[in-house]
Amino acid sequence: MSIQVSGLTKVYGEQTAVDAISLNINKGEIVGFLGPNGAGKSTTMKMLTCYIPPTSGTASVGGFDILKDALKVRSKVGYLPESNPLYFDMYVREYLDFIGGINGIKNRKSKINDLIEQTGLQKESNKLIGQLSKGYKQRVGLAQALMNDPEVLILDEPTSGLDPNQLVEIRKLIKTIGQEKTVMLSTHIMQEVEQMCDRVLIINNGKIVADEKVEALAENSQGQFLVEVIFTKPIAVTELVNEAVTIFEQRSDRHFIVSARKRIDITNGIFRVSVTNENSVIEIKDLKRDLETVFRDITKN
Ligand code: ADP
Repeated sequence: MSIQVSGLTKVYGEQTAVDAISLNINKGEIVGFLGPNGAGKSTTMKMLTCYIPPTSGTASVGGFDILKDALKVRSKVGYLPESNPLYFDMYVREYLDFIGGINGIKNRKSKINDLIEQTGLQKESNKLIGQLSKGYKQRVGLAQALMNDPEVLILDEPTSGLDPNQLVEIRKLIKTIGQEKTVMLSTHIMQEVEQMCDRVLIINNGKIVADEKVEALAENSQGQFLVEVIFTKPIAVTELVNEAVTIFEQRSDRHFIVSARKRIDITNGIFRVSVTNENSVIEIKDLKRDLETVFRDITKN
């Protein structure tokens, strides 16, 4: 287990920002930490990276306790904070050299060259950070987070404020980097989770309200599978329906969306109807529930 959290809580004055959350993230997973603004994502990440202490609860990251072994945790973690705090009047190489120095990296020059290549910064590496586009500034932030060759990457809203092209590129980069690391990334964009993550943790009002594999969450309402099917010829509804399968929506006399608790019940039913009626299937397609809808359903108060 790369990240283990138990009853982690942060109270600011009167406000409970993170409310006794527990979660586990396995080695090698890319987990999306999704929630509306103010849900407690950044606060959780700051506690996991030892930037702020929890009010109560415990966590271990990369095998070390955040309270007892903060320095070891920091050596295992690469962190990209929400407002990527770069020094705009430093050159890219100069900044990475500075970060390498803080991290006590030996063989700094070759490490920096590797990071520049890995994050696609070659063309920009001799520019001032302040002159870079937001997407390239994020790459510098990622290079900084990767400096100590961390086992775990914690990325707070890594794509916020990027234009659509930069978004695609940074997502691709994170996915590539994530092949060798455990990644926890926060976002308020459901689509991003769908594209990059294996699993999603949804936080709302400081509490974890969902912990699901991305495909499971995308599946259909209340665990029902939805399948869209189009036959060549009209077909009677009564032919399609049985004790396991119901019609979710009828779009024409040959075009249906059918639903069942098990997908195999739908497939078997459609196959039987098709054969007995000599009515072939033009199209059959699994329908996913719109992820934005799932997110809204889960996080609405
Ligand atoms: P998110 O990252 O999901 O947008 P945050 O973790 O930043 O959420 O914030 C969670 C809640 O805690 C918010 O209501 C926020 O206003 C509050 N909060 C965050 N940081 C502080 C702080 N330093 N002092 C007081 N309240 C804070």
